[in-house]
Amino acid sequence: TQNEAFRNEPFVNFALEENKRAMEAAIAKVKAGLGRDYPLHIGAEKIVTEAKIKSINPGNVDEVIGYVSKADQTLAEQAMQTALATFETWKKVPAAERAEYLFKAAAIMRERKHEFSAMMVLEAGKNYAEADADTAEAIDFMEFYAREMLRLAATNERQPLTPVAGEDNKLTYIPLGVGIVIPPWNFPLAICVGMSTAAIVSGNTVLLKPASTTPVIAHMFVELMEEVGLPAGVLNFVPGSGAEVGDYLTTHPKTRFISFTGSKEIGLRISRLAADTAPGQIWIKRLVAEMGGKDGIVVDETADLDAAAQAIVASAFGFQGQKCSAGSRAFIVESVYDEVVEKVAELTKKIPSGLPEQNYAAGPVIDQGSYDKILGYIEIGKSEGRLIAGGGKAEGNGYYIQPTVFADVDGKARIMQEEIFGPVLALGKAKDWREAIDLYNDTEFGLTGAFFSKDESRIEEALQTMHCGNLYINRKCTGALVGAHPFGGFNMSGTDSKAGGYDYLLLFTQAKMTSRKL
Ligand code: NAP
Repeated sequence: TQNEAFRNEPFVNFALEENKRAMEAAIAKVKAGLGRDYPLHIGAEKIVTEAKIKSINPGNVDEVIGYVSKADQTLAEQAMQTALATFETWKKVPAAERAEYLFKAAAIMRERKHEFSAMMVLEAGKNYAEADADTAEAIDFMEFYAREMLRLAATNERQPLTPVAGEDNKLTYIPLGVGIVIPPWNFPLAICVGMSTAAIVSGNTVLLKPASTTPVIAHMFVELMEEVGLPAGVLNFVPGSGAEVGDYLTTHPKTRFISFTGSKEIGLRISRLAADTAPGQIWIKRLVAEMGGKDGIVVDETADLDAAAQAIVASAFGFQGQKCSAGSRAFIVESVYDEVVEKVAELTKKIPSGLPEQNYAAGPVIDQGSYDKILGYIEIGKSEGRLIAGGGKAEGNGYYIQPTVFADVDGKARIMQEEIFGPVLALGKAKDWREAIDLYNDTEFGLTGAFFSKDESRIEEALQTMHCGNLYINRKCTGALVGAHPFGGFNMSGTDSKAGGYDYLLLFTQAKMTSRKL
């Protein structure tokens, strides 16, 4: 219950037959309802449009997940007006009441977790454990941000003010206004829920523009918030093209903040557009932009090499490498290089690939665009390194690509520098551990990293010199937990907002200081 301290939602163990069967049943149930139409939600209105986003199963491209109505600029404007009007009432709702909606939604999602996960198995191509982790993180975000809002609302809790004789001083965190929430498809529930509920619980109203490849799972979340009685107009659902609806809302004079997670390219575009002031605009738009990564693992000669190889493979190929935290590079010290490379190749070749609903470890990538782009990078890799595993398409009626590893790749090579966002791993050799760290740091990104060593003094130095938002020692670089590992990156990885941390809600509030003479 909400009176207890936050703790992470446990992961489901699908090695247990009953859990596996429960997921299979949920998948069958979700499948029975596929192909439906989903409307926009603007205030209390459900709006069906002629134009539709067709969401398909990337692992079986003939299967339609659903047809989602699509906002144009007129509907986006209607949603903006609704959110503006609703802000006037929502901002006055006490924090504890706002938090209550999140606690209720978290409880229901926990009860029906396999259904949410099953939808991601089908719409995003996640295997059971990846989908379950996504749902667990969504639950965590709601539980965590609800508690965070209660903490912030306890006046002066965050910054105890220095007492001044004859004054009653208070610092209160008040909401900003209407926010545009733009999540990516790769954590289509967790990030969508986290970004939306953080903004809402802080007292803002939201226009949610889901990623166009995963709008149906986003709609499941919107329905959940409706089910818990969130007042109409607080969370408005406006799927549509990034270029049309996205740009329109980014440049809108009434947009108070934009919360974006996605690629560097789109993040920078939003940053540029949001910096301009439109006629009638009376604030600087606040931008939270969490972007890409070119994350990596450093292995020295004292490390547990089996553990390092396993971590490299898990970080590179979990959800087909489609994580901002994916370890798509590894730098290994010369004296153990061949041994680690061999272990990585062996482990990679053993990864079974196939339909997510049958819980294969490796599944499809998200869509045709990604598929083509990743295969293009594999061709580039063939001229930049030595192919030691995978190297092309994999079997299946979808966007399947073999987990692919290149060895002997130069630190400046394109596959070492550019975010591929697919199952492609580049390995590089370093003369010693310090050079390996330099190679790791040679990137415009700075999201996650890991260092493998048994040497205390080296670990100390690595902790200080590896420049990234989330640094791990002797473990994989993916799998950040809400509350335990506040998440966000440096440099071109974004604004380092630290989702799932104490600082996050501050981004959706402004602090008002009041001083009353006694
Ligand atoms: P993306 O192509 O940048 O899209 C992200 C979102 O932006 C989608 O909802 C997209 O809508 C929307 N969008 C596109 N053009 C827009 C515009 N002009 N204005 C406003 N919104 C626009 O990224 P993605 O492919 O979904 O996600 C993968 C990327 O996200 C990777 O780079 C990954 O590293 C990054 N990521 C970062 C984090 C982090 O915490 N740092 C977490 C997860 C993912 P459409 O789908 O309609 O185009």
